[in-house]
Amino acid sequence: MSVQDGGIEGAYNLAAAKPGGDNGDAPMPEYRNDKVVVRYDPKICIHAGECVRGLPSVFNVSKKPWIDVSGASADVIAEQVKRCPSGALTYELLKKAE
Ligand code: SF4
Repeated sequence: MSVQDGGIEGAYNLAAAKPGGDNGDAPMPEYRNDKVVVRYDPKICIHAGECVRGLPSVFNVSKKPWIDVSGASADVIAEQVKRCPSGALTYELLKKAE
C-alpha cells in the first residue's frame, strides 16, 4: 500500500499551520478501500478543520493515517469531502463490490 500520511497537524490551530512547500514534489497522499479513494493535497489545505469537525470517524489528526476511509460509507465521505473549502480533499467513488 502506498499510503503516505500527509497529516494536517494543527487543523484546529491556525497559528500552527505551516507554510506551503514542505511537501515538495511528493505524490499526493491517497487513502482508499474498494469503494472510495480520498486524496489530500497538504500544499493547499488551509487547516480550516471542516473535515475533522464534520466527520471525525474518518478525518482524525490524532490517528495515523489521519484519514480512515473505513470510518463511514463512501457516500458520506464524498459529501464531507465536498465541504473542504480549499479543495485539498478530493474523492473518487469506485465500483461497488457486491
Ligand atoms: S476541510 Fe480541507 S482545508 Fe479544511 S482542514 Fe480539511 S483538508 Fe484542510
